[in-house]
Amino acid sequence: LIQLYAPLNFLGFVYREIKHSLADMEKMFTLMEVGEEIADKPDAQTLSTRSAAIRFDQVDFHYDPKRQILHDVSFDIPAGHTVAVVGSSGAGKSTLSRLLFRFYDVTGGAIRINGRDIRDYTQASLRAQIGIVPQDTVLFNDTIYYNIAYGRPEASEAEVIEAARAARIHEFVSQLPDGYRTQVGERGLKLSGGEKQRVAIARTLLKNPPILVFDEATSALDSETEKAIQAELAAIAANRTTLIIAHRLSTIIDADQIVVMEQGRIVERGAFRELVERDGRFAEMWRLQLQEEEAAAAGQPASQAV
Ligand code: ATP
Repeated sequence: LIQLYAPLNFLGFVYREIKHSLADMEKMFTLMEVGEEIADKPDAQTLSTRSAAIRFDQVDFHYDPKRQILHDVSFDIPAGHTVAVVGSSGAGKSTLSRLLFRFYDVTGGAIRINGRDIRDYTQASLRAQIGIVPQDTVLFNDTIYYNIAYGRPEASEAEVIEAARAARIHEFVSQLPDGYRTQVGERGLKLSGGEKQRVAIARTLLKNPPILVFDEATSALDSETEKAIQAELAAIAANRTTLIIAHRLSTIIDADQIVVMEQGRIVERGAFRELVERDGRFAEMWRLQLQEEEAAAAGQPASQAV
């Protein structure tokens, strides 16, 4: 019996490992909404850079040919700068990040990194350069440690903890009885939206990509959490080329440029001060948000943020 035990135990281990990887792959594929039509060119180049300048160059896009979503969208994010995209729901903001990550390809124009069309790079190398902090982070059914280390599996334990500290999740994790070994996800400890986002930030810090896409959560947050997220965002965006998909305008006061979209078109652009002074669409959105915040502070129900 003893002789049988070791191989059976080993088989059990292999089975768990395979099941685990399948579950992870499944999750990654759902997360990435992998479009089968996106293929690498036969002569695709490897994108490898520590400094990425991004250009959306007259980008058109539709998911369905009957309905154009983006119309002639052009803007630059110089290397190390931050551009925030704002606009009402359905304006096409998140679509920009999906195109940058090549979940889909543009139907007109091009997205360029360091002057070159992203369709000329391998998808793997393009995606390796981009860190995404999504609206709703889905965690793997595994330990907190695994979920952070996923950003760079070969990272040392010290590096994982350092990333967790920078994302301000270390203290919380340390208080848990099982610490970093705590199981999370659907079948483990349920983390709050903010805690999950911090795990995603730690994972991204560990990956250390030159490009960052931060898709802000739509849900209204209390001002304390809002401030914490602003601080975290500033920390991860420093020295990276950053695209923020913004739902709350206060998070983007410091962006180098704000791009305002309406129904798939850019209608305004500029720095925060300039846009407020211009008294156009952005200024209107800003006033509306301030009114909503005042109403919320006075205890009246505020509608969803812009
Ligand atoms: P929100 O602020 O609500 O997140 P958004 O500005 O990010 O909105 P997008 O998610 O970019 O908007 O969507 C732009 C438009 O594209 C919407 O009208 C949406 O219905 C449509 N759309 C988004 N994803 C798909 C898809 N997979 N297939 C078809 N249409 C889609």
